[in-house]
Order: sequence, then C-alpha cells, then structure tokens
Amino acid sequence: MSLPNMRASSQIILLLSLILVGILGGAYVNIDKLNALEHDANAINKLGVIRGSIQLITKHELNGQESQEDIQNVDNILEEIKEGYFKQEAQHPYFTKYSISEVALSLEAKWQALKLAYEEHRQDNKAVPRVIELSDQCWDLAYDLVFQVQKFSEGKLDSYRNIIVLSSLIICLFMCLVIAIVYRIVHNVLERDVITDPLTGLYNRSHFNKVLAEQLALFNRYQTTFTLTLIDIDHFKKINDEFGHPEGDRVLCDVANLLTKNTRDADFLFRLGGEEFAIISPHASSQQTFHQAEKYRHLIESFDLKLKTSLTISVGIAQSFKGCTVEEIYKNTDIALYRAKSLGRNTTIDFDTYI
Ligand code: GH3
Ligand code: MG
Ligand code: MG
Repeated sequence: MSLPNMRASSQIILLLSLILVGILGGAYVNIDKLNALEHDANAINKLGVIRGSIQLITKHELNGQESQEDIQNVDNILEEIKEGYFKQEAQHPYFTKYSISEVALSLEAKWQALKLAYEEHRQDNKAVPRVIELSDQCWDLAYDLVFQVQKFSEGKLDSYRNIIVLSSLIICLFMCLVIAIVYRIVHNVLERDVITDPLTGLYNRSHFNKVLAEQLALFNRYQTTFTLTLIDIDHFKKINDEFGHPEGDRVLCDVANLLTKNTRDADFLFRLGGEEFAIISPHASSQQTFHQAEKYRHLIESFDLKLKTSLTISVGIAQSFKGCTVEEIYKNTDIALYRAKSLGRNTTIDFDTYI
C-alpha cells in the first residue's frame, strides 16, 4: 500500500473508532438512565408492599394474631429503602423538589408509634382506636410516599427523555459528519489513484491526455504557448538486464524524484509508461524549455545511481502552434525525441529549431 493510502486508511480507522466511541458513549448514557428508572420502579414496589403489609398486620393484630414476622419484614424494607434508595437518590436535583425525605421520616415515626400501639393492644386490648388511627396514618403516609416517588421518577424520565433525544441527535449528526469525511477521503484516494502511476507516484498517461487537451484548449482560446517535453532513458533495457528488474524500478523512481525536484512549479510531470516521461510546460516556449531540458539531461548524466554505470536521457521538445491538434504536437515531440536517439542519444532536440 502506498504511503498516502496508508495515511488515508489510518484516518478512516480513526474516524470509525470515533463513531464506535460515540455509539458506546451514547449507549452508556442511555443504559445508565434506564437503570436509574429501574431503581425507582423497585422502590415504588417496595413502598407498595409496606402500604399493603401495614393494613394486613393491623387486621391480624386486632384479631389477636401476632405478626412479628411481617412487622420485621416492614422494618427491613423501610431500612433497605432508607439506606439504599433514598441515600443514593438524595443527590439528585429533583429529589429535594418533592417532600420525599419528610414523608419518609413521618412514616418511620408513625410506624414506630404503631408498633408500640400493637404491643399495648396485645397486653390489654384497650389500644384499638389508637392502632386504627395510627394504621390509617401510616397507610396515608405510605400512599403519599409512593405518590411522591412516582412524581420524582416521572420528573427524571422527562429530563432523561431530553438527554436521550439530544444525545441521539448529537450522535446522528456526528455520524453524518464522519461519514461525509470518510466519503471525502475515499473519494480523494480513488481520484488520486486513477491519475497516478503506482511505481513513481507521478501523474500517469491518462492524466497526461487530459492535461494536454486542457492546455491545447487554453492555447486555442488565449494563445498561451505551451511546450511538450518527452524524455526517454537511453538503453534502459541494459539496466534491467545487468542489475535486475527491481534495480530498474529503483532507477525509474530516482529519475522521477530528480525530475520532480527540478521541474518548475507550474509544470506538469508524467510517467507515460516504461522509461518514458513527459513534461507539459504552460506559458513556455520551446526555447525556454530547451534550457530546462538540458538541465535535466546534465543532472541525470551526473547523477550517482549507486550502480556501476551511469544514465543518460534523450529529450524531444515541441511547442504548440496555431491550429495544432493534440496528436500533432505529440507527434512533433516524438519526432524530435526520435531524432535525439538517432543522433547518438544523450541529446535534446527542439522540433522547431532542428527539424
Ligand atoms: P532506447 O535507448 O532506444 O530507448 O533503448 P531502451 O533500452 O531504453 O528502450 P527499449 O524500448 O528497448 O526498452 C525499454 C525497457 O524498459 C524494456 C522494459 O523491460 C523496460 N521497462 C518498461 N517498464 C518498466 C518498469 O516498470 N520497470 C522496469 N524495471 N523496467 C521497465
Ligand atoms: Mg522507450
Ligand atoms: Mg529508452
């Protein structure tokens, strides 16, 4: 995989990881809220059990049946709710909005009084009215407590609904944004791959055809002369034969780098295939380009290939002319290149000057 593609892949992996973190974060928030509501439902159930048990215990006690076990059960549930649910929820901003603590304290106090009244009643049967009165008060308070906790839970549900809707919306927007960025990255990578030569990273032949046609259109419209340069490595086959294909590839990359470093910013550099390169120089005559081409030729001639041989290139150049076509300017440049080869290679030929 090429370096830019690896970079794009890591960017995509990073973005997809962000989506995953977003989804997990959202799920955590939602599950946390649902758990909190489940605690409320448990507390409401337990308070309902207290309410029902008090009535039942009173009925049994008044009938002379001791209900020590049920009394203990109510004590346990009250303790459990006080130490667990109330302590846990006391920090919640909605908790203080309702008089849950006050009602719970009153219920506890009345329940203690009712238990004493049960004992009195067991001894002399005279505390019936007091048992009934306290039992009714306990029932009312338990009823009130259930009601308060329900309201508290509904208040929480309302606020959670907003949080859940908002967090889901943020996650959706975030995902759309990430998908758009991933699409952009993939699009850029594909677009770049379509116009790039995989070995050297230079523009390829199909992009060459496009840029040449564009430059010709500009020339026809604004008479902005441009020049085409064709560069062919001399006796490249020998490099492959003597040092192997991989070394040949490395030499092609070295030449591509050397040319890249030395072309003008405005120039377009291509690898047309094999050991053949092209340069399109906008706003440049063939005379101006000739000096540039000679510079490439000298640079490559003196370049240290790190092989026991040196490298030379032959160069053909031709400029746009009135009424020319893409085929004509390419043909002229190719003729100049052919002439450079036939004159012994390691030569630059300008079509307009020498032919
Ligand atoms: P000339 O001076 O006439 O241009 O001779 P040449 O040997 O450079 O030209 P020729 O067309 O005879 O051979 C070109 C060689 O380039 C043959 C081919 O194996 C080699 N070649 C083409 N593409 C690649 C490539 O991608 N990598 C390598 N290592 N060699 C390639
Ligand atoms: Mg060739
Ligand atoms: Mg060649």
